[in-house]
Amino acid sequence: MRQSFLFSKTRREAPKDELAKNAQLLIRAGYVHKEMAGVYSYLPLGLRVLNNIVRIIREEMNTIGGQELVMSALQDKDLWSRTDRWDDTKVDNWFKTTLKSGGEAGFGITHEEPLTRIMTEHISSYRDLPVRAYQFQNKFRNEMRAKSGIMRGKEFLMKDLYSFDQTQEEHEKFYAEARDAYLRIFDRLGIGDKTYVTFASGGIFSEFSEEFQTVSEAGEDIIYIDEEKNLSFNKEILTDEVLAKFDVNREKLIEKKAIEVGNIFHLGTRFSEALGLTYKDKKGESNPVVMGSYGMGPTRLMGTIVETLSDEKGIVWPENVAPFKVHLISLSGGDEAVREYADMLYEDMKKHGISVLYDDRDNRAGEKFADSDLLGLPWRVIIGKNAISNGEIEVVNRATGKIEKRKREAVLEI
Ligand code: ATP
Ligand code: MG
Repeated sequence: MRQSFLFSKTRREAPKDELAKNAQLLIRAGYVHKEMAGVYSYLPLGLRVLNNIVRIIREEMNTIGGQELVMSALQDKDLWSRTDRWDDTKVDNWFKTTLKSGGEAGFGITHEEPLTRIMTEHISSYRDLPVRAYQFQNKFRNEMRAKSGIMRGKEFLMKDLYSFDQTQEEHEKFYAEARDAYLRIFDRLGIGDKTYVTFASGGIFSEFSEEFQTVSEAGEDIIYIDEEKNLSFNKEILTDEVLAKFDVNREKLIEKKAIEVGNIFHLGTRFSEALGLTYKDKKGESNPVVMGSYGMGPTRLMGTIVETLSDEKGIVWPENVAPFKVHLISLSGGDEAVREYADMLYEDMKKHGISVLYDDRDNRAGEKFADSDLLGLPWRVIIGKNAISNGEIEVVNRATGKIEKRKREAVLEI
């Protein structure tokens, strides 16, 4: 894409009321637009990043047998009343609205209830199990805190997968597969080395849930890590009893701030019993289906990548999620030969299947470099007079700052 064509512009200042580094950088670089506190729009570059994150998650969910669907955002009050999760005293972050046709609806905060009800029409026998179904969908939550930028939205994208099994044992087996898939995702997103599987409160159905916590000063959670045992605990569950159970020494734990990028839950039969999701086993006996839920936040992940990998000059995208792999910059300064050379290289790069953003604007070199640092594409390819005179093209790695000179053919191998 030509940068002169891109409608989004970079800007020097983020909005005064934006406190989070992730949103400040993403707004300044033109990736997102702030609508109001905790509500953001994703502009073309931002959407490319988000789509890359979604693609990686989707691939890994399909690998473990996930079937993608998309459920409605508008939610039925009666359904949620049956599990006692409608009342504001039970769940305090619903956005609700009155319907002209009478009654109320809410904007989905999560989707255990509607999917369980859908499954009552599709699961009746042990032959119908197991089922793993997931979606990417905007969730709506009336969140209080708005200091974390896109990491805590009132409207945000979630990947939510739900598992349906015959027995607790089968459920546990899948739960372990889901954990592994999550770890592969964080590796592919470039934050694997900072992300810990962390025991957290499990609600009513099991002693613990597991959270995936990425260490960052911008995190809202506090975790305690035992490096030797490779264990991590959310502060909320760290009691003497838990320490004893895992044979962990309190003195050895390292306290860190961290961002919860995903979590996996045992749901037992809470929802299947409440909503009548049962199956007949081989003996013809009726049993409630055993469920699990597996959440992950693509928009929060995008913010986490910015928080943990950016530097003082701007964003640093890992190649897997970058909106473009290469930032091609022409420093023509009015020199037609340089412009033509850059134009041709741009066309050739596209022919070679390289995803490239071409800064073909007439701006000064300093401005172009500052913008390029802010945008954070992995490779910067610079075309100035030297590129033509001695055939050497400067290639800069955004993450390391390392500069190499390459021949034109080698640039096309990037
Ligand atoms: P938190 O503890 O941070 O409020 P949660 O425990 O309520 O999150 P879930 O309801 O399990 O989170 O949601 C699944 C995933 O969705 C989370 O792990 C996180 O990655 C993401 N997520 C949750 N709330 C938000 C939000 N307000 N904005 C962006 N992402 C979110
Ligand atoms: Mg949580």
